[in-house]
Amino acid sequence: MPFADLLTANAAYAEGFEHRDLDGRPRAGLCLLTCMDCRLDPLPMVGLQVGDAKVLRSPGGHLGPEMLAGCVLAVHALGVNRIMIIAHTRCAMAGSESDLRDRISASSGIKDIDIVFGADADRLGRLAEDVETLRNHELIGRFAEVGGFDYDVDSGRLTQLY
Ligand SMILES: [Zn+2]
Repeated sequence: MPFADLLTANAAYAEGFEHRDLDGRPRAGLCLLTCMDCRLDPLPMVGLQVGDAKVLRSPGGHLGPEMLAGCVLAVHALGVNRIMIIAHTRCAMAGSESDLRDRISASSGIKDIDIVFGADADRLGRLAEDVETLRNHELIGRFAEVGGFDYDVDSGRLTQLY
């Protein structure tokens, strides 16, 4: 029963459920892209709660095809006019692709891994690049403000860099 604890918790959650009146349009007009890191709690970090923002997460918070598709949908179908990309300190994706592959090979016993993880040692450079990609995109740039931010996992502080 690997999920039993979670279903038990959900039963209690559903008992006091308060969000039945929400629709799918984020109240803060915000789409937030960030890393999958469990130290990041994206909504409270910017004073928001459920129903306020679209949240897209990926390893490193890097912009890929699915994140881009999510942004376009958010802007044109869901009333989003602000997009935050949030990188963070001590990110496991801010290293080398080969180190990641070595770790996964060691863990799995499989040598040839054909997944591209997208590690980037220059994490702030990558952030700047992703911000530019969105700002220059014909379906995003004219329709939404795009900002690039760095989150410090040791202080909880968010800083706008781009
Ligand atoms: Zn990360």
